[in-house]
Amino acid sequence: VCHTDVHETRNDWHSTSYPIVPGHEIVGRVRATGSRVTRFVVGDLVGIGAMVDSCRHCEACVKSLQQYCHRGPTFTYNSKNNVTGEVTYGGYSDSLVVNEDFVLRVPSSLNPAAAAPLMCAGVTMYSALRHYAIGAGMKIGIVGLGGLGHMGVKLAVAMGAEVAVFTTSLGKTGDALRLGATEVLTPANLDAVTQHARNFDLLVSTIGSVHDVNPYLELLKRDGSYVIVGALEPIPTVRGNLLASRRIAVAGSFIGGIAETQEVLDFCGERGIAADIELIPIQDINSAFDRVVAKDVRYRFVIDMASIHDRAGTIASRR
Ligand SMILES: [Zn+2]
Ligand SMILES: [Zn+2]
Repeated sequence: VCHTDVHETRNDWHSTSYPIVPGHEIVGRVRATGSRVTRFVVGDLVGIGAMVDSCRHCEACVKSLQQYCHRGPTFTYNSKNNVTGEVTYGGYSDSLVVNEDFVLRVPSSLNPAAAAPLMCAGVTMYSALRHYAIGAGMKIGIVGLGGLGHMGVKLAVAMGAEVAVFTTSLGKTGDALRLGATEVLTPANLDAVTQHARNFDLLVSTIGSVHDVNPYLELLKRDGSYVIVGALEPIPTVRGNLLASRRIAVAGSFIGGIAETQEVLDFCGERGIAADIELIPIQDINSAFDRVVAKDVRYRFVIDMASIHDRAGTIASRR
């Protein structure tokens, strides 16, 4: 359950065409293959992320950066396929038909349910961190500790960086430290933040709403970047002198391409990294959405889709 599922289902972005079937962090087993499928066989453990097609020919697609396809990728749900015109329906379902080029291999070393959030939350953070070549000796800030943020901490720590978490929920301090952060800062605590002025190589913002980025820019070193992966909202005024005086960039990053999604799955499979999840039956989805909005999830809901056939909605027997 990605926060996007809530926005799209509730038409928060005024772009939903009903009926909608959300879900773009999907893990399952191959049930059948078409005659020209070469990479997968029945029974394979596979994943599907936020995209199910793209033009395949543009400069971005050729580099496996399908998320930046010049014609726009076909998203996994509430999206129209540019070629066929068909509307897509996502993973809150018991089956999906997907072209093999957009199917990922899920490492057998990972719990399939905990691996599902790697398809969107995981690759979103991984792609941003990789683009900025994060590694040992660098200091990174993850802004917001939700589904995206908690994966960002795990991945940045695994890449060797020193990681600080910015959160307004001080109740999450223990979690942040457990995930590998060395510091937890609250944006309201300006004293602590001032001490960190010009301290960070990179800040990755997972905040999903409009926010003032200027206080964060004060924390960046020369040539540092504030990268937005969460908010698809307008950014309020940014102080140009702050950017120019230290050659700072405010940038964005959007999910990740197919090759990079496989890369994050393999990276996590080798290191035993996956999301912290709460497994629910589909019957609990409305309260789960409310809890996502209330930031009351640690840190990703995953739906056991077998429950779709279960009137009582109990998953206890399948655990
Ligand atoms: Zn998502
Ligand atoms: Zn393309």
